[in-house]
Amino acid sequence: MAYDRGTFDEFKTALAQVRSSAPGSRRHFSIPSFHKPLPAMTPASNFYGQIGLQRPQVQPFNAPPNNQFVRRPAHPLQHRHSESDIRPRQPSIKTYQTHTRSRVSGKRQSVSDAHKEILKLLINDPEKSRKHPHPKNVKRGTVEFAESMAHQEANIPHYWELYKENTTFSEILSIFKSAFGTDYKKIAIDARGSTYSTIVKMVNETFDSTKIGHGQDAKGLERLSYSKLWITKIQRIENPQLFRKYVHKRQEIFLNLSKMNLACCQTVRQLPSSSGEITTHNYLSQTMRKELFSEINEVYLFHGTKPDTIKTICNTGLDPRLGSGKAMFGSGIYGAEKASKADQYTDGSLTRTGGPGKEKKMFLMRVALGNCYLCTDLNPQKYRRPPCTKCKRDDCKTHDSNYDSVVGDNKKLFREFVVYDGVQCYPEYLITYERR
Ligand SMILES: [Zn+2]
Repeated sequence: MAYDRGTFDEFKTALAQVRSSAPGSRRHFSIPSFHKPLPAMTPASNFYGQIGLQRPQVQPFNAPPNNQFVRRPAHPLQHRHSESDIRPRQPSIKTYQTHTRSRVSGKRQSVSDAHKEILKLLINDPEKSRKHPHPKNVKRGTVEFAESMAHQEANIPHYWELYKENTTFSEILSIFKSAFGTDYKKIAIDARGSTYSTIVKMVNETFDSTKIGHGQDAKGLERLSYSKLWITKIQRIENPQLFRKYVHKRQEIFLNLSKMNLACCQTVRQLPSSSGEITTHNYLSQTMRKELFSEINEVYLFHGTKPDTIKTICNTGLDPRLGSGKAMFGSGIYGAEKASKADQYTDGSLTRTGGPGKEKKMFLMRVALGNCYLCTDLNPQKYRRPPCTKCKRDDCKTHDSNYDSVVGDNKKLFREFVVYDGVQCYPEYLITYERR
């Protein structure tokens, strides 16, 4: 569907006007009409179907000025929504059609409600297709694929509730906040589905009760008695604005690959002196694995954080500038391949709690590691950005090629996966759990 962006801007302005009017007063908002005749399956027909009015026919040249449309059920072929999707009729709104605009008028609240429904419809089509978004006819793991990914139009993941085929990011973004009033939606993951069970398995298998309290950041945990992380809830954070930034970063990494005429980055397992595959990867379902771009080392990693920062992260993502600065590999965003490690950061070392009712939260984030620098130093540099691929310094002025991430693998307790750019990770799942 091709929408005119101006249409959405008009929607937003109109809604603001309706909202700012005095309660109970009669107001109207108007939207520009589409100049070409519309096929039955357009948002306009949905729109008219939703408010229980027939889509306006082309007006004869000498149409009378009072061209109000008769309220009657829409023809079944004119909209695709099942009965349960159709909101109750709005007895207090009327629509008018002039040659340039469609107009809805009535009580402020009714118009505002109708308007919100229109916005939601435009991004929540129940018959949205779930086609795979990868470029067609280009083989994965080739230079051509890297090139096509570098230039592919960004879109949100097709399994998100917000996904709608043939709708661009800009269109979703321009109506999202108006419709929902927030930057993101939290979607509860069905506990009977495969995504839920995959994540539960990932947490269980990467939690090692014999390591509780081990390591510098684990202080205080040894005093609690628990042997597992008991998951109570998993939610997906659907933040289109944030995901768009992440996709752009991913494209940048693909572009760098294709400029070097390479198809894939070395995987973490292939890096010299690597301890092997990223643990979370071993427990990914086929479905989740297929969504990741292994060509640029896109992986799922845990990130534990205190409850008071969760909302900020859902809104604007992770920010390397907010780190302590004392972290081993410098001021980056740290991802963990084991839930045991992430669990250490979900509360402060002096205020540890455990047991039923003491909820903790960690993210399972998507991270585009790209070209990784494997660092085996026991006392590594405090990096401010990924080091130069030639001299391994983060402040190199001689060369112009940097890694995308650092993998701290000094054969100690846990490996660290560090990126220095907030948009290189996306906090996709929020896991709520208790220490039991
Ligand atoms: Zn250098």
